[in-house]
Amino acid sequence: MTLTENVHEHEIRKFGALAERWWDPAGEFKTLHAVNPLRLQFIRSHADLAGRRVVDVGCGGGILSEGLARAGAEALGIDLAEELLEAAERHGLQSELNVRYRRISAESLAEEQPGAFDHATCMEMLEHVPDPASVVRACARLVKPGGRVFFSTLNRNLKAYLLAILGAEYLLKMIPKGTHDFSAFIRPSELGRWAREAGLSLLGMEGIVYNPITQQFSLSRRDIDVNYLAAFGRPEE
Ligand code: SAH
Repeated sequence: MTLTENVHEHEIRKFGALAERWWDPAGEFKTLHAVNPLRLQFIRSHADLAGRRVVDVGCGGGILSEGLARAGAEALGIDLAEELLEAAERHGLQSELNVRYRRISAESLAEEQPGAFDHATCMEMLEHVPDPASVVRACARLVKPGGRVFFSTLNRNLKAYLLAILGAEYLLKMIPKGTHDFSAFIRPSELGRWAREAGLSLLGMEGIVYNPITQQFSLSRRDIDVNYLAAFGRPEE
């Protein structure tokens, strides 16, 4: 597989088609808006962001990239969906934040600028690519020694199927139908192994848990059964 082939074109089209809806807090991506403060809280519990260069891989319309910039980072969002990068760019200009966007894959950027970033984030993206381990390796290469790498994805088990697909897509209609393919979900043990093989060490994992009664999300150290965040460190040399 060449570096540029680690992409499902249908995924890029699917997300790109919703570019105009990305920043609607009540729209198709309302869940990303809702969980963003929790993702930033998790990231900040493992990494200093102020004045740091952070690459946000699979940034979409820039919800996390902007959050990183707001927390003081110099953020670069990368994605392969042109329309999303345009929407992100437009929104970033309005917000006057220290955030830039580029259409490039994680693998190509890692080839071009290895070790150029203090930290890397890659949220809700690994489960949409053919070879997630390759993205994990690229993220590990993008950060300098001592840097942090953050992922979030969906676990693969019956509960995750029931909650993330039947619950979120069909019953609660929190996210559009067809957003996720269960077989592409990733167990924490798999993510941990790919990261280890890429030279990263695990710092911590936390679940993002939805309470249907209060309709609120929260972080949980105990429950990583469905949606979870993981922090890794690239060891100092
Ligand atoms: N990380 C963002 C968006 C998640 S949606 C957030 O959590 O707020 C998934 C994103 O991954 C989409 O923007 C899609 O275009 C992007 N994506 C899918 N495959 C990709 C690939 N191979 N390279 C880069 N981005 C990809």
